[in-house]
Amino acid sequence: MKKNPILYVVVPCYNEEEVLHETTKQLKAKLEKLIKDKKISQDSRVMYVNDGSKDKTWEIIKEIHEKEKLFTGVSLSRNRGHQNALLGGLMTAKEYADVVISMDADLQDDINAIDGMLEKYQEGNDIVYGVRSARKKDSFFKRTTAEGFYKFMKVLGVDCVYNHADYRLTSKRVLEEFSNYKEVNLFLRGMFPLVGFKSDVVYYERNERFAGESKYPLKKMLNFAWDGITSFSVKPLRFICTLGFVILFISLVIMIYSLVRKITGNTVDGWTFLSISIWFIGGIQMISIGIIGEYIGKIYSETKARPRFIISENLNRKD
Ligand code: UDP
Ligand code: MG
Repeated sequence: MKKNPILYVVVPCYNEEEVLHETTKQLKAKLEKLIKDKKISQDSRVMYVNDGSKDKTWEIIKEIHEKEKLFTGVSLSRNRGHQNALLGGLMTAKEYADVVISMDADLQDDINAIDGMLEKYQEGNDIVYGVRSARKKDSFFKRTTAEGFYKFMKVLGVDCVYNHADYRLTSKRVLEEFSNYKEVNLFLRGMFPLVGFKSDVVYYERNERFAGESKYPLKKMLNFAWDGITSFSVKPLRFICTLGFVILFISLVIMIYSLVRKITGNTVDGWTFLSISIWFIGGIQMISIGIIGEYIGKIYSETKARPRFIISENLNRKD
């Protein structure tokens, strides 16, 4: 049992002036209770990350910081998007905290799951994923597209936690190791499982955003999903090669068919040659692109330079 860990709750905020006061009220009550129950240290904080907001978000954060000692903040130089803001927050928080929880500013993720996360942390887990048990409050469109996306990622061989967004607890050592992932196309929910260590999940019900509107319009959502696929899977590249072989096979069938027609005298001059050539060359070209793709995939993973291993326990240390 780790005694009284310092908890930092990292909350990215983009134009969230409408929700900040309510969020502060609820998180304050939560943290005070946890401190009183001796679950977390009194040095724990909520850290807002202002993601280059255009409204009064940063002014409000500074105001809250003045009034409430449990609240602090950092501000990015410009809007960099949710994932970058979150990473900025996590990397800052790891300097001060033993354990960090990331969550959205609109409290769509039930803050009562924090207790469960801390319990699992005390049981020896380094990562605890918040998983949405019910999406009743999400629109039909958002629910089906989101769930479809997680299933599709699985087909592509990406190890994603089903229905987990960015509501998660991570220990300091996970964040230390995570800082070695230098890639710039972030898809955090897919990257944390790569770090490893013992992990668990807690389930919670997702609420509606209580004020303001979503900062994730469809376009951003699609971009994010596309990033997730292309940052984690080379299967689309491999698909080109497979397609090439399929076309090459079709070209064989066409060849036989064309030759039979030629022998039975059912063709115009030159047709056999052309139809065979088109399919054969098509297949060869597709396979060639696929092979180039295979190498590009290799270059891609080399340039990401992800850590090749992370040691979790070392019995050699004498200290
Ligand atoms: N967010 C951010 N930068 C952006 C867009 C969003 O920091 O460019 C934050 C936003 O303030 C919120 C979180 O990311 O805390 C999730 O956004 P939102 O709730 O609008 O997304 P949704 O829940 O609709 O998917
Ligand atoms: Mg939201």
